[in-house]
Amino acid sequence: MSKDYTPMYQELGMDIEKHNELLAALGEIYPEFFLKQENRPKAMEYFDYVMSEIHGKRIEEILEKKKEGKPLVGTFCIFVPEEIVVGADGVCYGLCGGAEFSIADAERDLPRNICPLIKSAYGFKVQKTCPYTQASDFIYGETSCEAKKKTWEILNELHPTHVMHIPQMKREKEKELWKSEVYDFKKHIESIIGKELTFEELKKGIEIINKKREAMQRLDKLRGMYPDVVPISGKDGLLINQISFYDDPERFTQKVNELCDELEERIKKCVSVVKKDTPRIMVIGTPMAPPNWKLHHIVETTGGVIINEEACIGHRYYKDNIETQGAETIDDLMNNMLDRYMKIDCACFTPNDDRIDKIIKMYKERKADGIIYYSLSFCHTYNVESKRVIDRLQAENIPVLRIESDYSMEDMGQIKTRVEAFLESISFKKNVKFKGF
Ligand code: SF4
Ligand code: SF4
Repeated sequence: MSKDYTPMYQELGMDIEKHNELLAALGEIYPEFFLKQENRPKAMEYFDYVMSEIHGKRIEEILEKKKEGKPLVGTFCIFVPEEIVVGADGVCYGLCGGAEFSIADAERDLPRNICPLIKSAYGFKVQKTCPYTQASDFIYGETSCEAKKKTWEILNELHPTHVMHIPQMKREKEKELWKSEVYDFKKHIESIIGKELTFEELKKGIEIINKKREAMQRLDKLRGMYPDVVPISGKDGLLINQISFYDDPERFTQKVNELCDELEERIKKCVSVVKKDTPRIMVIGTPMAPPNWKLHHIVETTGGVIINEEACIGHRYYKDNIETQGAETIDDLMNNMLDRYMKIDCACFTPNDDRIDKIIKMYKERKADGIIYYSLSFCHTYNVESKRVIDRLQAENIPVLRIESDYSMEDMGQIKTRVEAFLESISFKKNVKFKGF
């Protein structure tokens, strides 16, 4: 980091010693996982810088907003409509939940057999090691899964936590319920800024996030839609998806577009980060919160490359925009927003066939070579849904490997062996020699 942020951490009531331990642990794996990659796009320097200052400069920036009376909202789910917070000139960010570091502390209060994402995020609050959580006015939880919704009750004892009720079916009556939840959320944000959002403010919030999503859609295409060239590694693609939940949205959009300009040049000149015939893999399933880079690292050091993440930290987050054209009133904008959010195909919905159709379409469009279905341990929704997804993929003759894992590094060897066999079988089918690394 560019300077000593200890006074800021003290002001946020953080456990300085423990936080130093966390930074030291991250400081060891980041260079190994990211900086050692060969032939990275030059524009990745910005994202490396963001990561180096993710607990520093960015926290300073959001605290400036707080001083101006703007809302700081921490979330755990892409259902929380960030456009409303951004329209109020506040900051909406995803909270970390991808590290093993905080899990032992969480397990003093929570059962061991729930998903590591929840335990990791809760543990950061217990430890007081996440400056984003500490800085937030409140956390918006949701009811997407059993473990989450019960955890919010306990988390609320440590930090103000509000809960949005996420529909689990897409019938008209659930849409009505969702509508009232989103209007309540808007009212809550307005109570913090002390006024109602105007049409222009809400539209501006939507436009800022639409532009961010458009830049990410552009990146997604450049990663996956040119079968002969992979201009950026999957690890870097995942990193950008993760940073999208923290960085200033307008600056992030600009930097992603700059990266995309460079990637377009690479594609024109056939500059690829991998050798010809490297198996191109799509990863589908549960979100990978930072610093969960394990699967990408394994695949890309075993002879494959990841071209897309069909997950909430990935394609599900940026695939749909909110229509603003023709909207004349706040209610028009809100209705368009509701429509967009109801297109989220999270496994918390039943039935969720749209997700399966979409995965097959994405696979074919990208001419991918195989799919890894990744699920966090004890994530019942994605784990159970994998049966129907995999059945359909197999019926389409799509090679698929199912991996269930947590945040420990202990199963890396075992996963690597399975990934190696999977990539070899893909190369065999493509009738090319598996090159490995
Ligand atoms: S997987 Fe479902 S619950 Fe998790 S962030 Fe995505 S939409 Fe929310
Ligand atoms: S990964 Fe699954 S179990 Fe974990 S919080 Fe998300 S939906 Fe819930």
